[in-house]
Amino acid sequence: MPTIETVPSFSGGVWSSLDATAYEEVFNPSTGTVIARTPLASAGQTAEVVEAAARALPGWSATPVVERARVMFRFRALMEQHFDEIAALVTREHGKTLTEARAEVNRGVEMVEFSCGIPSLIIGDMLPNIAAGVDAQCVRHPVGVCVGITPYNFPNMVPLWMFPVAITCGNTFVLKPSEKVPLSAVRLGELLAEAGLPAGVFNIVHGGKECVDALLTHPKVSAVSFVGSTPIAEYIYKTGTAHGKRVQAAGGAKNHLIIMPDADLDRTVKQLAASAYGCAGQRCMAGSLAVAVGSAGDPMVEALVDLGAAMKVGPSDGDESVAMGPVIRAEHRTRVATALENAKKDGATLALDGRERGMTDDAFLIGPSVVDHVTPEMRIASDEVFGPVLSVARVKNLEEALALGDACDYGNGAVIFTRDGYAAREFTRHFNAGMIGVNVGVPAPMAWFPFTGWNRSFFGDLHVQGTEGIQFYTRQKVTLTRWPRTDESHLDPVWRDAPRQ
Ligand code: NAD
Repeated sequence: MPTIETVPSFSGGVWSSLDATAYEEVFNPSTGTVIARTPLASAGQTAEVVEAAARALPGWSATPVVERARVMFRFRALMEQHFDEIAALVTREHGKTLTEARAEVNRGVEMVEFSCGIPSLIIGDMLPNIAAGVDAQCVRHPVGVCVGITPYNFPNMVPLWMFPVAITCGNTFVLKPSEKVPLSAVRLGELLAEAGLPAGVFNIVHGGKECVDALLTHPKVSAVSFVGSTPIAEYIYKTGTAHGKRVQAAGGAKNHLIIMPDADLDRTVKQLAASAYGCAGQRCMAGSLAVAVGSAGDPMVEALVDLGAAMKVGPSDGDESVAMGPVIRAEHRTRVATALENAKKDGATLALDGRERGMTDDAFLIGPSVVDHVTPEMRIASDEVFGPVLSVARVKNLEEALALGDACDYGNGAVIFTRDGYAAREFTRHFNAGMIGVNVGVPAPMAWFPFTGWNRSFFGDLHVQGTEGIQFYTRQKVTLTRWPRTDESHLDPVWRDAPRQ
């Protein structure tokens, strides 16, 4: 038996294997084999990492912002240089296809590019003579030690939503990656060190609840960014804010895709499939409930079933022809299968049953599913399945489709497929979600725009990405200055006696 590597932690610039009392296995979902083990840090071990970040804070926050940005320029170049290797690592520990992994890494690189512009973005405001002889200025200061707690479904991109902005704003950072996919985070840490980031500015601690609780309650932690499921997001928000931290916590989703009868069927069905089955449905922006308006339903379901049945499903690691890879774990596959069984019990029709493909393989595979005739009281209408399952509800008109959105607890994304500008406008203005697509299957904002989940898809005030990220990782200081006349004997009389502001 080969020895299984223990995933190293990174604290104060030093990599080490924690001597933990508990470990979590890391799988390659394409083979079902264990490739590493994640140590679950105790509260005490977690506190040591926070202390390392706190020690690095005074030096780093005093480093000129232009120099902080230059580290990101070098980091970006290294990401480019190692792009294929980084994407392959995402596929290896997560199971998404290499094409999907490349897209993920690209989204992450864009966050680094955004952060390279921080000197222009963080610049302050100044108003001379706001009152007689008084000048006002407002500048942004770092908040302190920031923490990132991230989910399994984007091992590379989601950490990159957070630390490039936090660090270039002058903070130090502790990343607690998902214990299921810790290897991508480790690679990012290595590249940051190679880019010349000083020791202690970026740190990694691995763990579960004990580690997270230690981070949420540590007095030297100032801000917590979280991305994950809704119950944990709510817990993080409540616990973190109760301990005086600022918190941004993005949660789960149930994204509605509205299909109007006038939509281009061929294009729409391709986008529906890409949205629902991309990354095996494990995206917070994945299309989950297709809402077919009027006559759109029957032809759409027929075409979706054909497309889903023809998709090549298989182990993604090493086979670029695979269209859909495995889900993260065998238990997760069982969870998705159970959701399908419950949908059937609740009265829905399994037009395409993904359990008929892959369930017995070593890889954690399950085929794409189409669940038709879903009604609001069924569990599958409102639960986040987080697997390759597209449910279909039928409604008479756009108003009914909007009402379904109003009844939804979540509010991440929603999309309309139509050729009618009026319907698109009504939908855009009134749908109850923060990220909207018009004929765009996955309306995920890129680095320059905020990732604006609503309702129980987000807890907090300031989202990740865009200028909201900068607001989150900085606090403003307003300074009012008056310099009254003192001894003016040395001034030229012409100047001394002139009217002044
Ligand atoms: P998760 O909530 O299980 O885990 C997320 C993080 O929280 C992990 O680091 C994990 O270690 C930690 N955690 C888990 N249980 C905890 C507990 N009891 N106490 C403290 N910490 C705990 O989420 P996941 O399964 O890794 O990721 C999938 C979820 O993330 C989905 O719900 C998906 O919609 C969501 N997600 C949301 C967004 C968004 O932007 N809204 C983006 C990506 C993923």
